[in-house]
Amino acid sequence: MNSSAIIILSESSTAIARQIQTVLPEATVYGLVDRTQSADIFYTHFGDTVRDLFAQGTPIIGICAAGILIRTLAPLLSDKRAEPPAIAVAEDGSAVVPLLGGLTGANELAKAIAQALQTQAAITATGQLRFNIVLEAPPSDYRLANPEHAKSFTSDLIAGATVRLVGEAPWLSQSNLPFSPKGTHLIEVTKRDVAGSATHLVYHPVAVQGRLAIVGTGPGSAQWMSPEVKGILQAATDLVGYKTYLDLVGDLAQGKQRHESDNRVELDRARLALALATEGKSVVVVSSGDPGIFAMAAAVFEVIDRDANPAWTDLDIHVAPGISAMQAAAAAVGAPLGHDFCAISLSDILKPWDAIEKRIAAAAAADFAIAFYNPVSTQRTWQLDAAKEILLKWRSPTTPVVIARNLGRPGQSVRVINLGDLTADRADMRTVLIIGSSQTRTVQRSDGTVWVYTPRRHQL
Ligand code: SAH
Repeated sequence: MNSSAIIILSESSTAIARQIQTVLPEATVYGLVDRTQSADIFYTHFGDTVRDLFAQGTPIIGICAAGILIRTLAPLLSDKRAEPPAIAVAEDGSAVVPLLGGLTGANELAKAIAQALQTQAAITATGQLRFNIVLEAPPSDYRLANPEHAKSFTSDLIAGATVRLVGEAPWLSQSNLPFSPKGTHLIEVTKRDVAGSATHLVYHPVAVQGRLAIVGTGPGSAQWMSPEVKGILQAATDLVGYKTYLDLVGDLAQGKQRHESDNRVELDRARLALALATEGKSVVVVSSGDPGIFAMAAAVFEVIDRDANPAWTDLDIHVAPGISAMQAAAAAVGAPLGHDFCAISLSDILKPWDAIEKRIAAAAAADFAIAFYNPVSTQRTWQLDAAKEILLKWRSPTTPVVIARNLGRPGQSVRVINLGDLTADRADMRTVLIIGSSQTRTVQRSDGTVWVYTPRRHQL
């Protein structure tokens, strides 16, 4: 299921929307443009936006009158098993009304929202009210073999019939169904192919195939993490990653199994993630920035390629992008990557220094702006000075260099200096550098700071 969309029509609903986000941190607040200022995403047409989201399977939480949502969604209704929840919340937060999606979790969602708003959800589904369960909508690890009988079965129980449970299923045994050893009706949980009937519901346990997502959290702060990544983290059972990156995830890591590791054992970490996913877990491999830029996505595919384990090749894998450090650094000073550029890691752990030297020389000769990742570490202290010497063969000492440290994290600092003044002590493993091309320019401002940009036209 997608992350929820909270739809607001005026700025005064923002407070209620943010309160709902405390229980649904992955939810996105959609605000009507011109009427709202602090939403996550702005829309221009209420009806089209709500219908598009609903059609894509997004649970809708409208902070508006129930009637508005009903009229908006009515033309789309056709399949109650597939439709996502639609919930109306009163503008003052006093009422939470699940309108649609009883079979896809609307009642549970409404209860969670009501709890955040310290009110009651207006649950009208009788089976849910009486028995705290919807027999037609078992959890994902069970399948109802005869859904056509669930409605009348529930009606019989509401009218006073009793039920006997055969087999194991905690979600059934922990419900308020009227169980009795001499029940008139039967619920059977079995792997066998049993024929059900109007008085006999049959559930089959289903093997859950696991999932693996490889996500990038952005450089640091939460507003640079995509709504997609937030949703994936929310739904995960297991998080795999370097401790610092798992810490960046904050509250979204709560209640998940954490598999922390050293930053250097990337292939082992990738194997662990793949193994957990094949056991049926919903695993998220967490990288900072973008997961495909000097990060874990390539390590996961390398292991799949090398180990040739068919269970891994066919796994459900999803890579969710993030904002890379060079983009955040560029944005902080203007547009130094406005024309052709490349990114080079100065780490010689996974490639020889010879190769790095050649690449720097080639990039400098081709007049790319260059982002340097992993510029200096406690063990690698001379590489940045060596890189500077190579660059100075092609670039003027006055070429602008952006030194960005701890972007989006506490202690962020972004400085612009001349290439001639670059020294290794200005950078560390939390720093990304951008070296301008021959065309990169600065614009001086009266407060002493500068903008840096690379024009979109290249002059020879
Ligand atoms: N996947 C990451 C890069 C990981 S390599 C991304 O796309 O950003 C690690 C290097 O990235 C660090 O040595 C540093 O050069 C850079 N980096 C990552 N996060 C940073 C941040 N918040 N501030 C500055 N540089 C950062």
